[in-house]
Amino acid sequence: MLNRRGMLTALVAAALGSGVRAQPEAMAGAAADGQRRLPWRNWSGSQQCLPEARLAPASVAELQEIIAGAGGTIRAVGAGHSFTPLVPTDGTIVSLSRLSGLVSYDRKTLQATLWAGSRLGDIGAPLERAGQALVNMPDIDKQTLAGSLSTATHGTGAGIGCMSTFIEGLQLVDARGELVDCDRQRNPELFQAARVSLGALGIITRVRLQNVAPYRLRRETIWRDFDEILAIADSEADRHRNFEFYYVPFSGMGFTDSHDITDDPVSSTERLDGNEGARDLQLARDWLERTPRLRQLVLGSYMKTLDDEVTVENSWKNYASERNVRFNEMEYHLPREHGLAALREVREALETHHPEVFFPIEVRFVKADDIWLSPFYQRDCCSIAVHRFFEEDYKPYFRTIEPIFRKYHGRPHWGKLNTLQQQDFRQLYPRWDDFAAVRREMDPRGRFLNPYLAGLFDESGGNS
Ligand SMILES: Cc1cc2nc3c(=O)[nH]c(=O)nc-3n(C[C@H](O)[C@H](O)[C@H](O)COP(=O)(O)OP(=O)(O)OC[C@H]3O[C@@H](n4cnc5c(N)ncnc54)[C@H](O)[C@@H]3O)c2cc1C
Repeated sequence: MLNRRGMLTALVAAALGSGVRAQPEAMAGAAADGQRRLPWRNWSGSQQCLPEARLAPASVAELQEIIAGAGGTIRAVGAGHSFTPLVPTDGTIVSLSRLSGLVSYDRKTLQATLWAGSRLGDIGAPLERAGQALVNMPDIDKQTLAGSLSTATHGTGAGIGCMSTFIEGLQLVDARGELVDCDRQRNPELFQAARVSLGALGIITRVRLQNVAPYRLRRETIWRDFDEILAIADSEADRHRNFEFYYVPFSGMGFTDSHDITDDPVSSTERLDGNEGARDLQLARDWLERTPRLRQLVLGSYMKTLDDEVTVENSWKNYASERNVRFNEMEYHLPREHGLAALREVREALETHHPEVFFPIEVRFVKADDIWLSPFYQRDCCSIAVHRFFEEDYKPYFRTIEPIFRKYHGRPHWGKLNTLQQQDFRQLYPRWDDFAAVRREMDPRGRFLNPYLAGLFDESGGNS
């Protein structure tokens, strides 16, 4: 029997009337620099630097000493999964990878305090043993807790806020090396600023989260025509606890993914491997880039053969996927009412100008919140993300799409590529100046500002 990859290959070959060659493997990343410094680069390779020091303190006291003693800029790093230049510095990069795990929990309030360096994927099991679970999760779980919260990382769910909305309190080390605690009562202004703070206020050591009781989720993936998806997207987003969808460029098709709470036993139908799927789409692009109608015929026929999938699992095992095929990404959070109109324009622009693109467009829904630098501040959002294979230049494609997002007053994900500058952010964020004031108070000498953040927050309104 033909497997799915074999099916696509056969369709492409039939369409071209020829045999099929193997594609070259992805090239490895950066070469050695020959200096004594240890280079740093992010997941996609879009950001890199040669810092003076890379340190991983084993205790809060050690972290305080590092901050008090460091000469130049100090930047916190999580798992390096942000695409924007939040981390790069010539100074000191501090990782809290040795400060990870569950600190304490309260069975009555369902709150838990976790070390900031915990990876999301390592939190689920200990929380479950403590009778708790995260309210929601993003589509991968490699990020650290502090890294996710610092950029307003989100999952999907029209009735669920981004992860920073789960924070009940946090502790950080400020620019003097002092420990500061904040929550709604203690240092409330700092709390409002620190829940999404880009590592610009200090280094977060631990976070207290409001969780829920453990729950099981039924995840259902259904392949559909794009027009059908557009017709049902809004009502499905309201009907399911979590709902998102993808459009596969040059196919006329996509799939919806929903999650709902269930008591059904753990089970799974066969799941299409997303990484294999991305390589299939790359293959179709490589062979059919110049014949869009044939590409649509092949991809559409292929996708119609794909079965719906259902997975029932404990919540923390049923949100995330493995992403082994690397990419660069731009994601904007648009007022929900404009989401589908923007998506139509994005599809049109992509399919008119960028036959080289093969990664699907991802669309999610996130509830409004009250966090000063949250892109979801005071508005329910529809989030649209576009991706480009990491070895290919993302700029032309993103340059085409970004004006559409901006036309609809989108706010970019803090961790994903965009070209906005200080004056743009100031217009988009009503509490920008309040955040800037808290930042000045926490770090008057700008010790946590690398060039990118200095461009966003320096007093002269610069845009370096
Ligand atoms: C494959 C992939 C899938 C993704 N999926 C999603 C998704 O589904 N939803 C979504 O919203 N985003 C997603 N992202 C983006 C990602 O969640 C964010 O960029 C997130 O910030 C990355 O976390 P990190 O631990 O890698 O932090 P980093 O990228 O290393 O750092 C992010 C920011 O956090 C700060 N920081 C880190 N640790 C601390 C600390 N202890 N104290 C203070 N500041 C700190 C850093 O200084 C920096 O400003 C994805 C990214 C990738 C590469």
